[in-house]
Amino acid sequence: MGRQSPEEALRLLLEHAAPLTPVRADLESALGRVLAEDVVAAANVPPFVNSAMDGYAVRAADVEGAAPEAVRRLRVVDDVPAGRTASVAVHPGTAIRVMTGAPVPDGADTVVPVELTRLSEPWVEVLRAPPQGAHVRQAGEDVRQGERVLVAGTPLRPAEIGLLAALGRAQVLVHPSPRVALVTTGDELVAVSEQPGPGQIRDANIHSMAAQVRTFGGTALLFPRVPDREQAVRDTLAAALASADVLITNGGVSVGTHDHIKAMVQELGAHLVFWGVEQKPGSPLAFWTRQDKLIVGSPGNPVSVMVCLEEYVRPLLRQLSGFRHLHRPVRRARLANGYDKGRADGRLHFVRVQAEERDGALWASSTGPQGSGILSSMARANALALVPAAVAAVPAGGPVLLHMTDLPEDH
Ligand code: AMP
Ligand code: MG
Repeated sequence: MGRQSPEEALRLLLEHAAPLTPVRADLESALGRVLAEDVVAAANVPPFVNSAMDGYAVRAADVEGAAPEAVRRLRVVDDVPAGRTASVAVHPGTAIRVMTGAPVPDGADTVVPVELTRLSEPWVEVLRAPPQGAHVRQAGEDVRQGERVLVAGTPLRPAEIGLLAALGRAQVLVHPSPRVALVTTGDELVAVSEQPGPGQIRDANIHSMAAQVRTFGGTALLFPRVPDREQAVRDTLAAALASADVLITNGGVSVGTHDHIKAMVQELGAHLVFWGVEQKPGSPLAFWTRQDKLIVGSPGNPVSVMVCLEEYVRPLLRQLSGFRHLHRPVRRARLANGYDKGRADGRLHFVRVQAEERDGALWASSTGPQGSGILSSMARANALALVPAAVAAVPAGGPVLLHMTDLPEDH
């Protein structure tokens, strides 16, 4: 298949991605994943009536009308810290000292906070009466037994993790983190820790890609860099594909004489879905499938690959992860300095910008030179401005849409 519009490319990717088969996860690894089952409460939370304050469990009738000049005296008959239960009930004229979280003893209906009392053993003097039922937490007031607390499709944030723990669910079914194999290619590349020789550069992309994949909720599997030789490329791709849900190759996917990725992926028996997207940067983006595995061929230029991962791989991984919201917020803004393509080139341009609110309007300013190798302007950006295929130039202050790349998905 030939070149695609960006919308069509994204549609094709998502069409081939279904949420990964659920796995049982403990709470530690469930954070950030999407729940793949409905969770029904097996018991009440809290499980028993308990005190919301440190104070005295009393019968409201015994303390009604209490005032500093008309204290109510009650005999303290027990002392119950959290984690214990009272040995006696509260009868008329008595009180039991309770700590926060302690079961409210039988007979009591109200807790008088310690601040409203004065102790003169074995008596407690109540200086003011809270309303009946005050500071008593009812069994099941948080979650009722039998209640459907969380539904499949819910992203698990810290609050959901805590709730699951309170419910006694040490494990839940979730869609797993997609395993994403990363393979960078190029004879010119050396490890970040090495000093590049003549004609060499450091392999920046393996690190930006791995970092992106992790922030997308994927598990990055870093494979050794491969030189631009068919045999090496083929072997590494085969190994990478075997161990992952998604394989992302980097570099060697354009039309240079040493660009072997297309031929080698094809040799693995993959089916080409598309090659090339009408966009800048990142036009030599390719997508194949091989049975249930997905293969993305990303361009080597450092900004191109990051834009491709942000725009295409992020929604793809989110779909595999079971998220319903796949896309970053889109905002209307004014492009401070404008943008000139020279001509309407039929490509969507992603312009690296810093977006900020000024006088109630959103303004986007270019973060610097927009070459596909200029990572520093990517580092300064918090959004990508979209200059459509059919537009030659956006004047200073002209309208653009922004993809808000620092904000969580909202649709
Ligand atoms: P390619 O897509 O392989 O033709 O590479 C395009 C440009 O990106 C070339 O200037 C490469 O040197 C550069 N490049 C490719 N891979 C990487 C990488 N892993 N890290 C940094 N730059 C790269
Ligand atoms: Mg290359």
